[in-house]
Amino acid sequence: MSDFTPLPHRQSVQNPATHPELTPELLQSLKTKTDAALALLRRIASAYAPAVFANSLGAEDMVLTDLILNNKLPLGIFSLDTGRLPTETYDLMAATEKHYNTRFAVFYPERAALENFVHTNGINAFYESVALRQTCCRIRKVEPLARALAGNKAWITGMRAAQSGTRQNLAVQTRDAEHGLEKFNPLLAWSEQEVWAYIRKHDVPYNPLHDQFYPSIGCAPCTRSLSIGEDIRAGRWWWENPETRECGLHVKQRLAASTNTP
Ligand code: SF4
Repeated sequence: MSDFTPLPHRQSVQNPATHPELTPELLQSLKTKTDAALALLRRIASAYAPAVFANSLGAEDMVLTDLILNNKLPLGIFSLDTGRLPTETYDLMAATEKHYNTRFAVFYPERAALENFVHTNGINAFYESVALRQTCCRIRKVEPLARALAGNKAWITGMRAAQSGTRQNLAVQTRDAEHGLEKFNPLLAWSEQEVWAYIRKHDVPYNPLHDQFYPSIGCAPCTRSLSIGEDIRAGRWWWENPETRECGLHVKQRLAASTNTP
């Protein structure tokens, strides 16, 4: 056993990042980015049907949720329930379904694989080693993702290039060879300010943990709040080296990212 001790969650204080000043310049850039994202989503819906949006319920994904549902785009939406999500994320999922009068498809880990992993390694084995953490992510996220994507021609994510060093070389459109479909990142060039300007302007539901300095939210035991100046993704698997801090949902696609643009 390691001597690792999880950090406690920090209490809420005012977070300026989630309340940007809606200046004319910001609203203009937001309009330009929104128009481009909507045009891309329409193209995906028409040229790559059936296509699905992998909704992690993070701030970026709430923007995409709003764009898709308010514009009645024929795109499927699904979420992965790892079984270790924060209570706030489940509450947001319920509130979002109510807000948009819809129901998301939710995919779960394969029962036998998860039970075997926990029985063998312990309930919090992800803190013990990178290998065990990645196995946990594979069982709880990667395998359910493959099931969720099966039968589709394209999938959509809310990844942004500015989120971390591991995402700076992403492209808006790439070939996801592992799953055999196209992958689109419509918000790739968006800034954090533009994401929050959209949420404020359109009164989009969002996870209150973002106000508590959690810019990136995953499973509860693997997510912590940030201090000023830290990388946006620094709160994910913070006990590991930055190079390993992806869950496996996007790593292979990142490495295989082409220079394609919409
Ligand atoms: S983020 Fe943590 S709890 Fe969630 S699947 Fe990965 S290792 Fe497991």
